[in-house]
Amino acid sequence: MRPALALDGDPLFGLATPPGHSGVAVVRLSGKGIPDLLLPLLRKPDGSPVRGEDLPARVMRRVDLVDSKAGEVLDQVLVVHFPGPRSFTGEAQAEIHCHGAPVVVARLLELLVAAGMRPAQPGEFSRRAFLNGKMDLVQAEALMSLIGASTLRAARAATRHLRGDFSRQVGQIRDVLVVLLAHLEAHLDFSDEEIAPDTPERMLATVTQQQALLEKIHQSASLGRHLRQGFELALVGRPNVGKSSLFNCLAGEERAIVTPVAGTTRDVNEYSVVIAGVPVRLVDTAGLRQGGGVVERVGVERARERLRQADGVLFVAEAQKGVLPGDRDILATLDRDKFLFVWNKMDLLSAGRTIPDVQSAWPGSVVLTASCRTGAGIDQVRAAMVDLLGAIPTDGEGVVLMQARQVAAVGRAVTALQECGHIFVRGGDLELAAIPLREALAALGELVGEVTQEILLDKIFGEFCIGK
Ligand code: GDP
Repeated sequence: MRPALALDGDPLFGLATPPGHSGVAVVRLSGKGIPDLLLPLLRKPDGSPVRGEDLPARVMRRVDLVDSKAGEVLDQVLVVHFPGPRSFTGEAQAEIHCHGAPVVVARLLELLVAAGMRPAQPGEFSRRAFLNGKMDLVQAEALMSLIGASTLRAARAATRHLRGDFSRQVGQIRDVLVVLLAHLEAHLDFSDEEIAPDTPERMLATVTQQQALLEKIHQSASLGRHLRQGFELALVGRPNVGKSSLFNCLAGEERAIVTPVAGTTRDVNEYSVVIAGVPVRLVDTAGLRQGGGVVERVGVERARERLRQADGVLFVAEAQKGVLPGDRDILATLDRDKFLFVWNKMDLLSAGRTIPDVQSAWPGSVVLTASCRTGAGIDQVRAAMVDLLGAIPTDGEGVVLMQARQVAAVGRAVTALQECGHIFVRGGDLELAAIPLREALAALGELVGEVTQEILLDKIFGEFCIGK
């Protein structure tokens, strides 16, 4: 059980802002002896010492930071004190806002060590917050997702977890299941409490209901994965049709090597663009071409592998040349449900000529025309990509599972409830139904971090940045 009241750990500090030159750098401190340990380093602007009462709770004070060794003022800083338990970690905490000069920051950190504090490990602040009951594991993971979010939509999903939306839903489901377990035990006559046992039919209804709620949460895992990792679209086509050029047009930045020599895009290049709030990785693969040198063959193999994994494919061909045998070979390997046919180099199509009909040969394919040279049609390609990735639901979704650990725990709870339901349906022994029900409760307890092992905490918090 986690303590209700914060117990201050040894004093530590961490740079909360990224290293490098900046207007302001923030150093966080937490633990026993904060802010007293800090006071000898501080002076008031008039040179008089700073005492504990000069740093009232949650009020920022402008003071001088003194380099005791040099006996000189190192920087003018702002200091704020957050007494426990009303702090992020639940411990006594303080923050020093100094100027973001790497040499000043480095010296400040040295002075803190000399004053008896130690540098924090990655995620140590969050770990203490968890251990002091300031947040559960789902919220701690949400914090990590929020910091790592690459799109606003992913950030919003993480914030919903951080605010406790997910933990509350899980809590409600657990409450219902705990009552159910009590009823079951009443049937078995194990109960300490005097409750009138529910009928098996009503208990089954409860199991089914809660299972459906958890299944809905579990299904959000695919969106969660896409919010975190993005969708992947592969660009394929014969060499020199303009894949790299299209990739650059869509990405809006020069990334792939564009050259007139056939077969030069040997490796796999990636670039992320944001479409409908979801990151989309464009993967520019080596020309899918038989033969070529060894290096190129490796590229082709990689291209095929990425194709298998991709959520969609942009097939590129040259408008002025029409469908060549090489195009047919590639098209034959594509999954028809998820590809866009892009006729590139429309600027080279002679006036009066039309693009060949491919709809009849590849019915259902979405056909687009574009020119990477003039930029014509690029917006339509982007719009078609959104349609192709139709799996992106509209924004405003509820809870979204973001972490593999959470997906696994919810999955275990769903399986356990299924099993529990089956026992009721078969009219089996109620004693047996209590076993999977307890398993479901254990999985949900693990999800929010009620039952945790040190090794799991090391893994989770070790992925954090220092100073968080
Ligand atoms: P990749 O091998 O399929 O990646 O093709 P690249 O993107 O390297 O392009 C091959 C050549 O075609 C380069 O010289 C590009 O400048 C040229 N190219 C690409 N798109 C267009 C286009 O829309 N119009 C014209 N005229 N040339 C293009």
